[in-house]
Amino acid sequence: MQTAALEQLGLTDWTYEAIEVAPGDFGELVRSLPGEGFAGVNVTVPHKLTALALADSASEAARGIGAANTLSFAGSQIRAENTDGVGLIEALPEPANGRRALVLGAGGAARACAWALLAAGAEVSLWNRTPARAEEVAAELSVAKIERVETGEFELLINCTTVGLEQANRAEPSEPALKGLPLDADSISERHIVVDLVYGPRPTPLVALAGGKGASVVDGLEILVRQGAASLRIWTGREPSIETMRNAAREQRHR
Ligand code: NAP
Repeated sequence: MQTAALEQLGLTDWTYEAIEVAPGDFGELVRSLPGEGFAGVNVTVPHKLTALALADSASEAARGIGAANTLSFAGSQIRAENTDGVGLIEALPEPANGRRALVLGAGGAARACAWALLAAGAEVSLWNRTPARAEEVAAELSVAKIERVETGEFELLINCTTVGLEQANRAEPSEPALKGLPLDADSISERHIVVDLVYGPRPTPLVALAGGKGASVVDGLEILVRQGAASLRIWTGREPSIETMRNAAREQRHR
């Protein structure tokens, strides 16, 4: 999707490539990249914390979330950013401001989403399968931690757990079940905005169910596209075409 966007922008001398690196070699590799002509990098698991730690400066989002998914280079200076949260906010069909949001999970994705929703003015509650982790993240980000979920009390439901990953990648159609999540299927309605960060070739059970109930649904591929577009904006200073990136990502998903 990044390659398609670069082409669409006419940045034909730019390339986006994958580099695999062991955790112990990450710092040395990243420091060598500006000299090789790289404008920046996307960083994924397990390097997101190290990426923030080695940067010379960091955005408020990267500092608040405690991890970086995007580094940009200016001379030998490395700046850390986190576009995972902004990707969520930009993918929402309506502003998050003033809405009651439930974030499910307490891993890296949940941290980014909870931080961004809070920054966007939402009232954020966090639930996690392991309550102690929810407590830790909620305290760090200053959001509420809940153990008993009343689905109808929230307007935004954000799945940041890995629940649904297996079904989204399975050959046979997903079962519209919410096993592992504390949501009450009967309470999901057209007044909800439902976001599932999980994506695969098939819809996740949450996406399938929420769509069937008339909720506004944002799937994980859309979040991927939006965070990618935000990274590209940082490196190139240009506004990529979301449609071009979405089409390329969809095509890739079905390969
Ligand atoms: P992570 O740090 O490993 O966190 C995983 C979370 O899932 C934890 O909260 C864990 O709860 C929970 N979980 C795992 N199995 C569960 C189960 N059976 N029932 C209930 N909860 C369960 O992962 P992450 O990096 O935050 O990513 C989470 C998901 O989001 C992944 O599927 C990832 O692919 C997706 N993601 C998508 C995008 C995107 O652009 N669309 C971006 C980032 C992540 P415990 O604490 O109890 O173990």
